[in-house]
Amino acid sequence: ERVRVAVVFGGRSSEHAISCVSAGSVLTHLDRDRFEVIPVGISRDGAWVVGPGDPEQLTISGRTLPEVDAGADALVLPGEPGRGLVRLDAGRAGEALADIDVVFPILHGAFGEDGTVQGLLEMAGVPYVGAGVLASAVGMDKEFAKKLLRAEGLDVAEGVVLRPGTDIGFADRDRLGLPLFVKPARAGSSMGVSRVTDPAALDAAIAQARLHDPKVLVEAAVPGREVECAVLEFPDGSVRASLPAGLRYSGEFYDFDSKYLDVSELDIPAKLDDEITESVRWKAITAFRALDVQGLARVDFFVTDEGAITVNEVNTMPGFTASSAFPKMWAVTGLDYPELLTTLVETALRRGTGLR
Ligand code: ATP
Ligand code: MG
Ligand code: MG
Ligand code: MG
Repeated sequence: ERVRVAVVFGGRSSEHAISCVSAGSVLTHLDRDRFEVIPVGISRDGAWVVGPGDPEQLTISGRTLPEVDAGADALVLPGEPGRGLVRLDAGRAGEALADIDVVFPILHGAFGEDGTVQGLLEMAGVPYVGAGVLASAVGMDKEFAKKLLRAEGLDVAEGVVLRPGTDIGFADRDRLGLPLFVKPARAGSSMGVSRVTDPAALDAAIAQARLHDPKVLVEAAVPGREVECAVLEFPDGSVRASLPAGLRYSGEFYDFDSKYLDVSELDIPAKLDDEITESVRWKAITAFRALDVQGLARVDFFVTDEGAITVNEVNTMPGFTASSAFPKMWAVTGLDYPELLTTLVETALRRGTGLR
């Protein structure tokens, strides 16, 4: 009997389209001999709908990004604001969602990667791929993620948190210098992130970040090249780090376009001394444990030639598109895309829900 996996994607975050593209790859690569796959889209307004069945519809063509269209067949679940707790319209969608063994929430950003969907699934007692409520929430919030990473002895960027309605003071401007990076506390795919070299541009950058989150981080620029490492939990409970990837892109930083639209390249393994490579892998696992992550995480670093290693962030549901680093790092480390997905689903089933 095949395991019934609901692949949930889209959602209410600014990373809606990227989640769709990630889901396109996941739907293509899940082993159909082992899994019965039910695609479940969440529209930008939060309506849940079964389909589309064809992953080809979930790809980027030119500069056009895909989107979930709730259409008439929408199955409304918690998440469509203002529609109450649950309104299950039976029919095809209701049948499809009955008796799901495990959910693969391939959702990035708010209302998906941040513990909210994870909480819903915990309440329902349905196992799911990836981090639980706490780790998802903390991983999404760069303010608290950095606190926990620092408490574990890992280096993170110097910075200041601007709560809603507050502005950066002169002392912090002096301390952090230039260039600065300004980013929403809870977002992803570099949405709302700016590199600021001119003090006159700082206010506009903060306003830009606030379009994604009223809480904003202003950070000193960290020197070094960008390196990522893919951490994976196996069904036996062991946690391993992949070979790291070195990022190459043409712009000033790794922005949205370099991630998904322009040509950017990954060196896997990253061109680092063996000692630095091992240190990155060990720090990736340390970061994973610091945030009490389950399942998987992509840990992003800055690494200098001298071997200074700074953790940038922990992504609990990293990109899974065909060009994404996480599946590529595991492929080079010896686990191909279908095997990676099988591992994720089996680890989720083994873990189950509730306290553990
Ligand atoms: P992701 O898609 O990886 O989830 P994100 O939206 O969470 O990205 P960050 O990874 O924090 O955002 O930042 C995006 C990019 O901005 C980084 O990959 C890096 O190129 C640049 N960047 C961010 N913060 C800094 C910093 N303090 N110093 C140097 N570069 C930075
Ligand atoms: Mg991120
Ligand atoms: Mg992310
Ligand atoms: Mg990042």
